[in-house]
Amino acid sequence: MKNKVVIIGCGNVGMSYAYALLNQRTYVNELVLIDLDQERVIGEVMDLNHCLAFSPSKISIKAGDYADCKNASIVCIAAGANQGPGETRMDLINKNSVIFKSIIKNVIKSGFDGIFLIATNPLDVMTYITWKYSKFEPNRIIGSGTSLDTARLKYMIGEKLQISPKNVHAYVIGEHGDSEFVPWSNANISLQNIKDYLTEEELNDIYINVRDAAYDIIKRKGSTHYGIGMCLVRITNAILGDENSIITISTYDKENNIFIGCPATINRNGVREKIYLKLNKTEEEKLTNSINIIKEAINKIEE
Ligand code: NAD
Repeated sequence: MKNKVVIIGCGNVGMSYAYALLNQRTYVNELVLIDLDQERVIGEVMDLNHCLAFSPSKISIKAGDYADCKNASIVCIAAGANQGPGETRMDLINKNSVIFKSIIKNVIKSGFDGIFLIATNPLDVMTYITWKYSKFEPNRIIGSGTSLDTARLKYMIGEKLQISPKNVHAYVIGEHGDSEFVPWSNANISLQNIKDYLTEEELNDIYINVRDAAYDIIKRKGSTHYGIGMCLVRITNAILGDENSIITISTYDKENNIFIGCPATINRNGVREKIYLKLNKTEEEKLTNSINIIKEAINKIEE
């Protein structure tokens, strides 16, 4: 089966995704890169092709244009402005929504009929914009959501307890941004609630470190990209492998008409279903706050 992925926006995030794909066994056998900076894309393609002799995957890689989206399984958009030091993800909204309108128009014009995978910030808003301008069914629009935040959370809890992050069953949900939160009442290790392992204060410290991780990294190295690269590969494999895997992505919330991070089952058709968590009162309030922040941001662009 042809499993073609097109990446639009080949900066730090787009290229970390491409490089992570080459370093794993994936279902992807064709990779096309698109960016405003054509010369850079040609250089990136040369560099990636030079990995193939030692890559576990066999992938055809080329620089392309929008016509290449026509028979793609996944179009991933990582184009647009990145956060500067101290800048919030929401600060990028106007710049990136303008960029998205033209990108989506071009992708749709190609006859693309696959799944959109969005990485650009503010993530939940850009995912909504993709849905709105593509007019695709919502199951075919996936934002990376709180997958990265969840990966950070699993790592930090794993470090604290000296256990593998793979055995930490805890998730970040809500906005991929400052209002995200951890529903600790649903967080488990070895079938026991996490509160049996860590104090409220320890849990709160971990949450703050997860929430502020992007700021902490950007302050030091200018951007965060390896983590999101791995998340995008994880989501790609869940789609192309028809895995029915559960990942915290940004998906459609019909009741509020927004996209927001929550666990969802992912397969070849995109999102099979969103998983509704049982939240306690405080967690419900945090979710409502996150919903309101995303709604407000969406309303601002539509004005
Ligand atoms: P970057 O500046 O390194 O790369 C952006 C690329 O987009 C550049 O190569 C630029 O030429 C290209 N571009 C801009 N407009 C374009 C257009 N119209 N068509 C095609 N290409 C275009 O930025 P980055 O560090 O790669 O970050 C990209 C986005 O990903 C940012 O919005 C950033 O905030 C976001 N991000 C998201 C997550 C996440 O968890 N979802 C994590 C990190 C970064």
